[in-house]
Amino acid sequence: MAKRFYLFVFFLFFAISTLSAQTTYPDIKNYQVYFGSAKRNTQDWLVLRRFEDHNKSYLLLLDPRELETKVDEASLYQVNHLTIDELRKYFAVTAYVKALSKAESQDKMIQDAGIQTGMPKETGITLTADLCPSHRPLDRRIFTDIFNEFKKVEQPVPIALSVTGIWMRAHQADLAWLKDMQAHRQINITWINHSFNHRVNSKAPLTQNFLLEKGTDIYYEVTETEKAMLKNGLLPSCFFRFPGLVSDAQLVDAIINFGLIPIGTDAWLAKGQQPQNGSIVLIHGNGNEPVGVADFIKLIQSKKRMITNKQWLLYDLRESVEDEFGN
Ligand SMILES: [Zn+2]
Repeated sequence: MAKRFYLFVFFLFFAISTLSAQTTYPDIKNYQVYFGSAKRNTQDWLVLRRFEDHNKSYLLLLDPRELETKVDEASLYQVNHLTIDELRKYFAVTAYVKALSKAESQDKMIQDAGIQTGMPKETGITLTADLCPSHRPLDRRIFTDIFNEFKKVEQPVPIALSVTGIWMRAHQADLAWLKDMQAHRQINITWINHSFNHRVNSKAPLTQNFLLEKGTDIYYEVTETEKAMLKNGLLPSCFFRFPGLVSDAQLVDAIINFGLIPIGTDAWLAKGQQPQNGSIVLIHGNGNEPVGVADFIKLIQSKKRMITNKQWLLYDLRESVEDEFGN
């Protein structure tokens, strides 16, 4: 009897720990941008990256229909290596490839290239908050507020966070707090790559600023951020947000060749842009833009009754893009 009880307790601990802890990869080696298809049973996954950790090989995998990612052991899959062009042909009918192509067709804009809206047929918005480098603490109001307002209608509440390497390094306590909310299923975070350094020059024109600054190593900016995410137990998504929303055609193409979909915005609240149904709303979660956060909280307050009646919701970025580009 006692034995059984201990076994039960052990199982319970195991279940709780696997539920609440996102796996971390503290010792990543041979990190590679590697494309392919990976078969397991009947499902065909899309391979975005491969790496090693503690002498095991892992794949960063994407379901190109649902836009969900996961990390899994490479040995469990039958992998077929593809170039990015072959990959785009192989998975041509999926929401992922269609969204990539849409972003590619809009690569000429200096600001706000990429996907800017989700699904206008639904009422509500997709919330994205950027975590650019900052000395200020995380603006926790955003998270406690959406949790409190939506807990009766949506749990966990979806939010997409664009994270930089520098922010992760300097804000370990904030990161732990976010992961704890995620583990308790209060929020569901889609992690967007927002570059590692996020350099900005207040004097330079946009065409030579942010990632367009001379000497930028885009390979470093993309892959070091992903490695830092994995090291910190965050799951990279297939999305990228340009620092300052600034890019040119060459940079958009470079990001697409990493297999990442640039995400813009049609409602940067601190700039006075009004959100519409289906908007991808941008606020800053790094404490540097309290005006945008205050506007967001006001927006939520104004929708209170509609939220209670499930007539105005927050949408998961992955689902928004899937609905926009899927079949
Ligand atoms: Zn930023």
